[in-house]
Amino acid sequence: MIIDLRSDTVTKPGKAMLEAMMHAELGDDVFAEDPTVKKLEEKVAALFGMEAGLFCPSGTMTNQIAVKAHTQPLDEIICDKICHIYNYETGGWAFHSGVSIRLTEGKNGVMTVPQIEELILPDFDWLPNTTLVAIENTVNKGGGSVYTVEEMRAISDFCRSKKLIFHLDGARIFNALTALNKKPQHLAGLFDSISVCISKGLGAPVGSVLLGSKAFIKKSRKIRKVMGGGMRQSGLLAAACIYALENNVARLADDHQRAKQLAETLATLPWVKKVLPVATNIVIFEVNSSAQVAELLAAKGIKVQPFSPILVRMVTHLDFTEEMLISTQNELKSLVISA
Ligand SMILES: *Cc1c(COP(=O)(O)O)cnc(C)c1O
Repeated sequence: MIIDLRSDTVTKPGKAMLEAMMHAELGDDVFAEDPTVKKLEEKVAALFGMEAGLFCPSGTMTNQIAVKAHTQPLDEIICDKICHIYNYETGGWAFHSGVSIRLTEGKNGVMTVPQIEELILPDFDWLPNTTLVAIENTVNKGGGSVYTVEEMRAISDFCRSKKLIFHLDGARIFNALTALNKKPQHLAGLFDSISVCISKGLGAPVGSVLLGSKAFIKKSRKIRKVMGGGMRQSGLLAAACIYALENNVARLADDHQRAKQLAETLATLPWVKKVLPVATNIVIFEVNSSAQVAELLAAKGIKVQPFSPILVRMVTHLDFTEEMLISTQNELKSLVISA
């Protein structure tokens, strides 16, 4: 048995999802003629109380389209230093949009209004224009840490007062909402744009949806095309996303429970120096050598992700069963590593 905890992107579509894909009504979405894609876009937009949606191949693309659509060259965006947009999108903000970036040092990636306020630049010739604030919820590199609705609202109100645009990288927003016991509707009106990944914890094979106003999505459609993301009979993928939204949201709580149980086991091990607080489905822990731990676990059939030379990440998901949890806990306890 191979246990893959590297990411919640490793899940494979099951029979029922494949069945939904096989029966999807299809058309050419570059001509805006794929009914299943339209259905998905409308469904996610309605869920979050936004006007319109755009189906894209990846969360990197939805984030980068948002940055591009909201900014011009000479603009500057504010993010946290551990966020995905800054670290894991190949510097796309510079490449696609010609903007600079200024970083907060939030607690586990969660930034506050005073931290953002400090970074807003005055209007001088020699400074870029602060335009956009982007938060991530949950924060991947923060160990799946969560912004509460109140924290998001505080930043939203602040952005409005400073005429800043507010984007949510909600790759794992359903994990955040599960942890908060809130509905997507609770985010209505807070953001100018939201990126939602369906290929993470929700278990679809491919796909993210970008949400915003009708005008923003119209502009974003054109940017998606120039980035090469105009897809044809993509209803095949959208059908998997619709299935995921209808069937795999409620079960995220199981992933969170299993992540907590993994963290509890890790906390008892002498070679684990620290475990970041677990709020959702991500467990990040500190060791002497992440490469060594990854290698020893790989030898036992357990795949984990070295996240830095000393940090290891495990992500629970749809295909990580109770049986796999018990097996992983036992293997972790049996590892012999000097502290
Ligand atoms: C995974 C992820 C993305 C998008 O990733 P893709 O692999 O491009 O779909 C964006 N933001 C966060 C926080 C993520 O974890």
